[in-house]
Amino acid sequence: MARKEFKAESKRLLDMMINSIYTHKEIFLREIISNASDAMDKLAYKALTDDQVGMNREDFKINITVNQPARTITVSDNGIGMTEAELEDNLGTIAQSGSLKFKKDMAQEENASEGDLDIIGQFGVGFYSAFMVADQITVMTRAYGSDTGYMWVSNGADGYEITPVNKPGVGTDVIMHIKADTEEEKYGEFLEQYRIQELIKKYSDYIHYPIEMMMNKSRQKPKPEDAGDDYKPEWEDYQELETLNSMVPLWQRPKDEVKQEEYDTFYQDKFNDYRKPLDTIRVSTEGNISYNALLFIPGQAPYDFYTREYEKGLQLYSSGVLIMDKCADLLPEHFRFVKGVVDTPDVSLNISREMLQHTRSLKVIARNLEKKIRAELMKLLKDDREKYQEFWKAFGPQIKFGTYADYGANKDNLKDLLLFASSAGDKLTTLAEYKERMPEDQPFIYYAVGDEASQLGKLPQAERILDKGYEILYLTEDIDQFVMEALREYDTKQLKSINDEDALPETDEEKKSAEEKAEAAKDVLEFLKKTLGDKIKEARVSKILKSHAVCMTSDGPITIEMEKSLKAHGQDMMGFKAERVLELNPDSPVFEALKTAITEDPDKAEKYAEVLYNQALLIAGLPLQDPAGYTDLVCSLMV
Ligand code: ADP
Repeated sequence: MARKEFKAESKRLLDMMINSIYTHKEIFLREIISNASDAMDKLAYKALTDDQVGMNREDFKINITVNQPARTITVSDNGIGMTEAELEDNLGTIAQSGSLKFKKDMAQEENASEGDLDIIGQFGVGFYSAFMVADQITVMTRAYGSDTGYMWVSNGADGYEITPVNKPGVGTDVIMHIKADTEEEKYGEFLEQYRIQELIKKYSDYIHYPIEMMMNKSRQKPKPEDAGDDYKPEWEDYQELETLNSMVPLWQRPKDEVKQEEYDTFYQDKFNDYRKPLDTIRVSTEGNISYNALLFIPGQAPYDFYTREYEKGLQLYSSGVLIMDKCADLLPEHFRFVKGVVDTPDVSLNISREMLQHTRSLKVIARNLEKKIRAELMKLLKDDREKYQEFWKAFGPQIKFGTYADYGANKDNLKDLLLFASSAGDKLTTLAEYKERMPEDQPFIYYAVGDEASQLGKLPQAERILDKGYEILYLTEDIDQFVMEALREYDTKQLKSINDEDALPETDEEKKSAEEKAEAAKDVLEFLKKTLGDKIKEARVSKILKSHAVCMTSDGPITIEMEKSLKAHGQDMMGFKAERVLELNPDSPVFEALKTAITEDPDKAEKYAEVLYNQALLIAGLPLQDPAGYTDLVCSLMV
């Protein structure tokens, strides 16, 4: 059969891998073993529902064989194997593997730096990592249900060949021909049984199938009965099959016996993340429903986290046997970023997916886990703010979304996890911290909405609130307003937009004076409405401006910020628009100038009206309908 080229992106990555001066070459064994374990999981899973498989859990094994003279190390499994097409798809291209996007991005990066290469290394690229230590790899495999086997051979650089072979049992052998030693690299170490033993302890101890290897040993020969006084002990070599891993899953080991590095490696290996987890959560309970859970909060959102492709869920084990890879029912939407495993004897091995959904024990576990995750996040927030900020950066949008989703059903659970920028300083604040800082007379919790936190304090509407010594939350993401809508209040204090007319309650005196001012300004306001027509719903004497002359606010359910956000997401087809209200400060000299112009020079007054309207648009961050016309207009007033 003709030699085939690797698909382009695979070839690129392969070159990078092989040529990287990468220090963690040893991870190749972990990758190959973990593939073997996955393949056995698949067949074991099949066996649960299909008697034809005829295998029990105890029958699955990984075997490692070393042939020193031939310089090969072979990892064999009796898992599900691969058909010819699967061989082609899985090993001819990396496009099949889960972390494709990341790998591809890295491979396409022309100037990938050494640091990047190191990331690839830590991450491991599964099967391909074996080319870091091997100059030829042979895969012999026979798929479950097929009577022919296939052999895949590749030396990495020049592609691969697939030929039919006679392979006795179902499963896969990966035969790695270890590279010759060089000055810098002693590849031969990977052929030493003690080195292999060490690597398996380090990286693959928790693999829940036995990893067996025939070990060369020596022992003292028994002393012959008739040995004389001058008998010297004699030694003999012998071989013994040893299981190299303890097979006790991490989550079943006592908490204080597991090192953080073990958790980290487990997480990175199992969930394909090159980063360490941000936080690790262990839960063990016994009682009505007993289970062990090992949960992780990733340090970064996976590339597809905010897309439909992302699938939430925890791995579900029943007494150490994997029964479902991504059990979605174990995690609420708002904590969908959590990864991990749950192991419980209370769910039966061959339960169907449909039944699983209705299992009471699963619901109880899910509820408990949700509480644990929340408590852990609260703890992080309290004890390690920096780490929490990292979490917030990655998953804050998810927490916000969770707060308003389902009509705010989860808001009480989530409100204390929220962080916001605020006028109090550069640090993000929680609502509780804001409340702590509130002066006694402050009636509301204030917020302002806009694109840039640094600009929000400069809004005309903000001035009078800040002048009172009240803090303002700066909301810069589209989702924030919806969060405010859902929350409405925090700990008895109402949340209030600084655009609200009643953001600062008025005294009777202030009320009266405002009414008088409005009455006095009636002509000016009518003139503005007449001149600007449908561009505004109304012109109004402002209660929210202090020194600035104008601003734009809205009436009705759609705010200006919502209009902007709908537009930004291309959802303004329905023509949702905020009803614009032009607010004027009757105490500003500009107001006087306008008033005078209306009686003395109406043409000029019309120009003023246009200028004020456009200024209000600008400051609200709304586009001008006619920017050129506006600049001409301003210039015309200067000459
Ligand atoms: P990943 O394990 O991240 O998907 P790999 O490059 O390690 O990526 O492996 C690619 C695919 O090849 C696997 O997903 C699996 O389908 C298949 N594969 C690898 N090793 C084996 C094996 N020992 N038995 C069966 N299939 C295997």
